[in-house]
Amino acid sequence: MPREAADATCYTARAARELRIDERSIALVRVVKRSIDARQRQPWVNLSLEVYVDQEPQPAPVHFDYPSVEGKTEVIVVGSGPAGLFAALRLIELGLKPILLERGREVSLRKTDIARINRGEGVDPDSNYAFGEGGAGTFSDGKLFTRSKKRGDYNKALQTLVFHGANPEILYEAHPHIGTDKLPYIIRNICRTITDCGGEVLFERRVTDLILRQGVLKGVVCGSERIEGAAVVLATGHSARDIYYLLHERGIRLEAKALAMGVRIEHPQALIDRIQYHQPERGEWLPAASYSLVSQEQGRGVYSFCMCPGGFIVPAMTDSAESVVNGMSPSGRTSPYANSGLVTEVRAADFAHLTEQWGALAGLKFQEEFERLARREGGDRQVAPAQRVADFVAGKASNALPATSYVPGITPSRLDRWMPSFIAEGLRAGIATFGRRMRGFVTNEAIVVGVESRTSTPVRIPRDAETLMHPEVAGLFPTGEGAGYAGGIISAGLDGERVAEAVRNFVK
Ligand SMILES: Cc1cc2nc3c(=O)[nH]c(=O)nc-3n(C[C@H](O)[C@H](O)[C@H](O)COP(=O)(O)OP(=O)(O)OC[C@H]3O[C@@H](n4cnc5c(N)ncnc54)[C@H](O)[C@@H]3O)c2cc1C
Repeated sequence: MPREAADATCYTARAARELRIDERSIALVRVVKRSIDARQRQPWVNLSLEVYVDQEPQPAPVHFDYPSVEGKTEVIVVGSGPAGLFAALRLIELGLKPILLERGREVSLRKTDIARINRGEGVDPDSNYAFGEGGAGTFSDGKLFTRSKKRGDYNKALQTLVFHGANPEILYEAHPHIGTDKLPYIIRNICRTITDCGGEVLFERRVTDLILRQGVLKGVVCGSERIEGAAVVLATGHSARDIYYLLHERGIRLEAKALAMGVRIEHPQALIDRIQYHQPERGEWLPAASYSLVSQEQGRGVYSFCMCPGGFIVPAMTDSAESVVNGMSPSGRTSPYANSGLVTEVRAADFAHLTEQWGALAGLKFQEEFERLARREGGDRQVAPAQRVADFVAGKASNALPATSYVPGITPSRLDRWMPSFIAEGLRAGIATFGRRMRGFVTNEAIVVGVESRTSTPVRIPRDAETLMHPEVAGLFPTGEGAGYAGGIISAGLDGERVAEAVRNFVK
């Protein structure tokens, strides 16, 4: 039962009974896996335990020894998101000195820029929810899922986060998450490890050009500064449009990529708890409930994305001319709202009209137009356009809107009419399908908010499958979400590590 699973005395006594041993002989009980099974009327918590008896050795605390890389070969890493940070840590382990360049500000200063966005005072294009120390993952839910099959790498990534201050619970939770209140501290510690080992972390350094000599990348330009290194790891994330434009202008090959776009949907958390736990209230012992939904509507995938139980909708644009929303949660997932991205597939054929003019950047242009349209529909202010969910499905206007977690505010708008029709129709059909699976999901207590447009990059930066280097530019190592090789904090971090290893092979 949830209450017993939350109480070490209860599950220790139960373990002693199951193992037929004296409870007093137990030196330590360690939870190695925890998951919730809410398929029945009574939700259960499944615990896997390791029991240490008498003198048996206790598990060693997580520990990493990072060597000094003072005076070693310098490698430039552009971007301090998960891909850049994990690349830098791995470079250190491999005996190379990372010079980490980040356009945004360090996390404490970044918080003030984010507060300004929430007050509707405009967006600093270098310091916002996507840019700054720790990248897009710093102010997020900090969910740590990945589809990566390499369990070893995944565990090492979680251990790296624990070593830098994350709660060890993430090592055994079935659905680990950190929370936006804890992430900045962990990110700070990772940057401190890098500098303590002799690496460099330089903020407010926006890369504006590349130093290329005979097809070999020698370094980067940040305003008036030229910084050279043995290789360049490009980990700039999917919101760094200026980087895609720069590569395009410098004649460096890029590829258009399919993406997914839609809205954020927000329900009262108590409603989602009732649906998922089949009880009037979730009570004291169960966490805020979540969901993960997917359907095919007329051959197009529609799915929920980055669900944030007990969370907030946040303004995730990188320019004041756009409206973009995303979601985050604190570690306790304590807000009275549940939000999630709800998106539909966008294929190359959907933006074919832009291909002749924009080539590989056509999807990016389509995304940009969608965000600018949303901004106009919000009245050219920070306020986001929104519609009640049942009204959206029925094709009706919402005259008034319920309360929301979105601090800059929302305004009634006909999202069903102004979004590209294939997106609006796909979402409408998908929400109706989800309402049949989760009774109560389609309700006017819930809202859809525009727009969720940055689920993945619309552009891939190609790289050779073996060397992980751009096929036409020696020394350029694209990585992470912005290059098209990751989606999420952990997969971006793991990709950064792989690229660091490829850099080691290149410079040796
Ligand atoms: C609000 C929000 C919530 C999210 N929640 C989750 C979640 O719960 N779980 C999850 O797995 N994922 C989540 N994500 C997605 C996740 O944050 C990204 O997948 C991940 O951060 C991608 O890592 P990255 O290192 O590839 O790129 P990013 O994190 O985008 O980092 C790129 C970095 O490069 C810097 N940069 C860009 N251009 C330049 C330049 N020209 N010069 C120098 N620096 C530059 C940027 O400032 C940024 O710091 C969330 C994203 C957002 C916005």
